[in-house]
Amino acid sequence: MELDQEVFEALVVSEIASNEDKKPVYHAAISQRKVADLPAGDVLIRVAYSSLNYKDALSARGNKGVTRNYPHTPGIDAAGVVAESLDNRFKPGDEVIVTGYDLGMNTAGGFGQFIRVPADWIVKRPAGLSLAESMIIGTAGLTAALCIEKLLLNGLSVDQGPVLVTGASGGVGSFAVALLSQLGFSVTAMSGSASAHDFLRQLGAGNIIGRDEYTDVNPRPLLKEQWAGAVDVVGGNILFNVCKSLNYGGSVASCGLVAAPMFEASVFPFILRGVNLLGVDSVNVPLSHKSQIWNKLASNWKLSQLASLETRIGMAELSDALQSVFKGQSTGRLVLALKQ
Ligand code: NDP
Repeated sequence: MELDQEVFEALVVSEIASNEDKKPVYHAAISQRKVADLPAGDVLIRVAYSSLNYKDALSARGNKGVTRNYPHTPGIDAAGVVAESLDNRFKPGDEVIVTGYDLGMNTAGGFGQFIRVPADWIVKRPAGLSLAESMIIGTAGLTAALCIEKLLLNGLSVDQGPVLVTGASGGVGSFAVALLSQLGFSVTAMSGSASAHDFLRQLGAGNIIGRDEYTDVNPRPLLKEQWAGAVDVVGGNILFNVCKSLNYGGSVASCGLVAAPMFEASVFPFILRGVNLLGVDSVNVPLSHKSQIWNKLASNWKLSQLASLETRIGMAELSDALQSVFKGQSTGRLVLALKQ
């Protein structure tokens, strides 16, 4: 291929020596790579923007549940311009978006100036969204939109009362707060970050609650009915306490595990209140469904407040930003701009 010898910049995470406990130690550095080093694939894309997600923070720390082999370039999101294509659905110059599938997990990801991927992972940039805007949305926004779509399909409507969003100041949470509010819902944001309250109010949260009363296992089989629906990004005890406090017939969309992957549960909320626990995955969602959601996010679900979610960073700030995402300290959406 013509561009095989082109050199580009990427964040490369390497496994270096083990520490005293024989646990491997990982080091991330900006390195030069060659296009020829990228995995085989149908379409070579010059990446203009990527974005930071919790999974990237895990990959950058050597989490083998996300990335099996190192050295590796994380970045589960990428938006850019087709440079070379072996697939006739795409031609050089096309503006495209890739999120999920194996990008940034075991396939070199968007924290580099080039990616090469199967054509079946690629969505054409929808009219109505710029490449930069598509990365403000990224996997986090797509996931929030899939959660809300599933809640609506399961009967949620604005007249039923407040909808709760957990982990509200993070990527998925802040997008969910903004989108639910734009769709006319009364939104309660659950947040452990006092400094994020103004931000959450600006996004449309009418009410903000702390995490404390939801963090522990509560021995009562049910709690007071409070929520018509919920988007949960944190899992653990908080998720089950949300199930216990949904209104009769209400639903919670579960997409994350920031607090914990496991929780102690009983069947009571399900059999006494008919509540629904809905699972949401944005990674392996069929491409046709992904395209539909992108089109929605570029048109009738386009956030009027999209720009206010964004903090833009460059390669030099990437390692520190990944640390803050890992610690749950980042607010809104971090967008990485790559040098062209
Ligand atoms: P972020 O780190 O941006 O946000 C997570 C938020 O959760 C934090 O900002 C914080 O918000 C809150 N939080 C942090 N630590 C804790 C804790 N110990 N207990 C309770 N709340 C906590 O992550 P993302 O929004 O990118 O991702 C959220 C989750 O969703 C992750 O688990 C991620 O893996 C998952 N995910 C799943 C997808 C799927 O397809 N199913 C796709 C994308 C993400 P605050 O301070 O406001 O409480």
